[in-house]
Amino acid sequence: MVHVHDAVVVGAGPGGSAAAHFLCAQGLDVLLLDRAEFPRDKTCGDGLTPRALRVLETMDLLPEVSARACAVESYQVVAPNGRSTTAAIAGDHKALVIPRLTLDDLILRRAIASGATFEPRVAVTRVVPHTRGAQVQTTTGQTYAGRMVIVATGAATNVLKQSGILTRQPQAMLAARAYFEDLRQDLPGTFQLRFDGVPSPGYGWVFPLSRRTANVGVGFMPTRQSGTAVHAFQHFTHVARTLDGARRTGPVKGYPIRVDFLHAPTFAERTLLVGEAAGLVNPLTGEGIDYALESGKMAAEHVVRGLVSGVHQAWLTDYDRLLRARFENIFRFSEWIRDWYCKPPLLNLLVPLANRQPELRQQLANIVLGERDPHGYGPLTMAARLLVYLARHRGGRSHD
Ligand SMILES: Cc1cc2nc3c(=O)[nH]c(=O)nc-3n(C[C@H](O)[C@H](O)[C@H](O)COP(=O)(O)OP(=O)(O)OC[C@H]3O[C@@H](n4cnc5c(N)ncnc54)[C@H](O)[C@@H]3O)c2cc1C
Repeated sequence: MVHVHDAVVVGAGPGGSAAAHFLCAQGLDVLLLDRAEFPRDKTCGDGLTPRALRVLETMDLLPEVSARACAVESYQVVAPNGRSTTAAIAGDHKALVIPRLTLDDLILRRAIASGATFEPRVAVTRVVPHTRGAQVQTTTGQTYAGRMVIVATGAATNVLKQSGILTRQPQAMLAARAYFEDLRQDLPGTFQLRFDGVPSPGYGWVFPLSRRTANVGVGFMPTRQSGTAVHAFQHFTHVARTLDGARRTGPVKGYPIRVDFLHAPTFAERTLLVGEAAGLVNPLTGEGIDYALESGKMAAEHVVRGLVSGVHQAWLTDYDRLLRARFENIFRFSEWIRDWYCKPPLLNLLVPLANRQPELRQQLANIVLGERDPHGYGPLTMAARLLVYLARHRGGRSHD
């Protein structure tokens, strides 16, 4: 007889491992599956926003993660014309950069220490629900059973498609990154976001792993002109002068980023989706570790409620409602900023303006870090505010 777990979690990235940890913390019997053996690499910029740090703190993981990470206290935006603006990250939680090889292993170990049973090298093919639970099928023909299933498979869509949850390939950014060492100059503890030499809309990044090593990459929404992610990466690193003389360690790795939460399914019968499997990556910045951790926690709390009150249709749609209440505004706002403001002439105007207007600089920081609650910042309000800044700027210049 197949053992029926309270929950089977498919995918042990930040979303799946966080979900497993929070389920186990409530005393549930959890099986966590991944096709990879850990520690495993994940193509990523390795940047953790304050949102991510807040969840890691509730998992009691922040000291351990911080000890292995590079601290980031500010962000810098470089406009297409090379001018830049820098602002401090406000609040108690700053930001970190930590290789995913290390981070994901720490989160997985946390889930295991909390009681999750982990099975690596299990490639899941699909989830088949039935009246009292769901069966998880694998490429080897082995099956697992859970009262509930959480799918946290990231940008890989095969499980979602074969389970009938996704019917077509969702919208995705293209991205590529590599590690560099022996940089000639010390890197500051700054997220550097660069709009020079990258396809639009999109950006390049230089994230410090230490003073002289960095995670460098590009991410962009593909258009007919943009070409491949690796090609965009090569062009960007040619333009980014910070890297002159630095040595690339390891290959340039490309991977898609799903940013379609606004249109994505978030559940199916007996199944909840978390993290990038639900399209939960910021469409402006490509950051998704934070949303994966947050939604992993939310899914775990929802499963606990469901196992007490009953797993019915209203309970499933309630999960979708909770996710949308939390993330929809920020995603709409970020998508809108990406489509309307990430244009080279506008960025060339905004960056020097931000240097003169601390309030605008802070707003940019909040947008970049996904901290801004966009309430009161609709398209018209934003445009009106910018006109005010511009008028002040012009006024200020006439007195220079
Ligand atoms: C180049 C690049 C740069 C990025 N930079 C940043 C950044 O700096 N900061 C940030 O916050 N986000 C960044 N992101 C986004 C971030 O990497 C993801 O949003 C995040 O990893 C999502 O977490 P997750 O747990 O949902 O999925 P993942 O981390 O992708 O984990 C999914 C897991 O599921 C497993 N899996 C998949 N299919 C199966 C299967 N069939 N059977 C069993 N297991 C399976 C995989 O092996 C994997 O371990 C970047 C992405 C890219 C591509």
